Amino acid sequence: MATPPLPKTRNTFLESVDRMVERALVHLDMELTPGLEDHVKACHTVIQIQFPVKLSDGRIHVFKGWRAVHSYHRLPVKGGIRYAPHVNQDEVEALAALMTYKCALVDAPFGGSKGGLIIDPKKYSVEDLERVTRRFARELIEKGYISPGGNVPAPDMGTGSREMAWIADVYKDLNPHDINYFACVTGKPVTNGGIRGRVEATGRGVQYALREFFRHPEDMKLAGLAGTLDGKRVVVQGLGNVGYHAAKFLEEEDGARIIAIIEWDGAIVNQDGLSVEAVRQFINEHGGVKNYPNATYVADGRSCLSLECDILIPAALESQITSENVDGIRAPLIVEGANGPITFNADEKLRARGVVILPDFYANAGGVTVSYFEWIKNLSRIRFGRMQRRMDEYRGQAIVHALESLTGKEVPAHLRAELSTGADELALVRSGLDDTMRTAYQEISEVFHSKDEITDFRTAAFVVSLRKIARTYMEMGI
Ligand code: GLU
Repeated sequence: MATPPLPKTRNTFLESVDRMVERALVHLDMELTPGLEDHVKACHTVIQIQFPVKLSDGRIHVFKGWRAVHSYHRLPVKGGIRYAPHVNQDEVEALAALMTYKCALVDAPFGGSKGGLIIDPKKYSVEDLERVTRRFARELIEKGYISPGGNVPAPDMGTGSREMAWIADVYKDLNPHDINYFACVTGKPVTNGGIRGRVEATGRGVQYALREFFRHPEDMKLAGLAGTLDGKRVVVQGLGNVGYHAAKFLEEEDGARIIAIIEWDGAIVNQDGLSVEAVRQFINEHGGVKNYPNATYVADGRSCLSLECDILIPAALESQITSENVDGIRAPLIVEGANGPITFNADEKLRARGVVILPDFYANAGGVTVSYFEWIKNLSRIRFGRMQRRMDEYRGQAIVHALESLTGKEVPAHLRAELSTGADELALVRSGLDDTMRTAYQEISEVFHSKDEITDFRTAAFVVSLRKIARTYMEMGI
């Protein structure tokens, strides 16, 4: 059954997500309780809050925000809080839905949720941001929209560990007897209940996703790619938390060539490759990429989405590749670092052309995966590796000694070091994330290759998630 295209060229983010889900539902191969499809797609609750804050200018400002809960099939529900001037209810609902599919895909045992607040954080002092955040948090907590077992926010666009620490503090104040208070939010600073490796987790996940793709030559062939990531030309849109870390790791650790970086004030292009770290420093100092030395500046940054390259990583905003610019896209492989960067209609065109897309709810799932580890750490109140790190070291040393005494030879220093190093928290987080991204890729790839009618990875990924969600609902009963 073909899914008809949306009538408009500009469909909403939520419509786009729903259409993508509908396209996959027909491939589930399971007997669904009639009507379950509607239940799976529907956003369960969305709360809108308008609240006053007296800012340092002495005036009362009224802020408007939302928290949407897409599904309660697993508790708590999980998803970030976004601070952006353009945020709206449709967007928050779409993002909450994506969180449901994302968590199911990577086996993070959460339902999907998302929050948004209309605010341009760049225009406020830290003191005012703290006041606004604390008040928003209080509103959400009092209404039952933040708690360790019910609803656990995290950073998203415009928020970070600082905001999460404020939220945790408000929760603790309001719930002084809840010993699990740290688990009410993830993405906190490491010194305040956070976990090592969470800040870069989403970018790291993008890197691990790409590495896994490059371990599958049959999939690479679909994109006309061969070899390794070394020297591959990458265009990245958005040097925020996701884009920066993804591009930096791909450049510094895998040898990819970052030939263009698209930012809010334009793009910079250098076919020999840009230093992501240098560009980030430049943005920190100058606010944008304009006048960055040793690169060509393109004022219409978005036009660079159409540059010839091997890998395109849209890691900024939703709805960046639409019916209007999709025909110009020349990348054979697109990795969605952002949520929803490709609209449904654009996605239809790209898949008809055979462009390979690693979809958002897979490619950027590293963030919530490490959030899951952080939540577990908070509930167990112990740093990962604390109990076994030295034990692993002793055992490794014993193996080295055994090898030496049995062979009469000395184990080379690098092997000795490798064998007798116990894993610390960061190493464990990375290995857990790597395993998660590989396993999810393999599940997607298996569905993709087992069904001729499925011709894109997004649909295959939705099939993986939807099967898990549908099974949960059907076993649980309504
Ligand atoms: N905001 C991130 C996302 O879109 C992380 C969510 C989380 O860690 O709960 O996946």
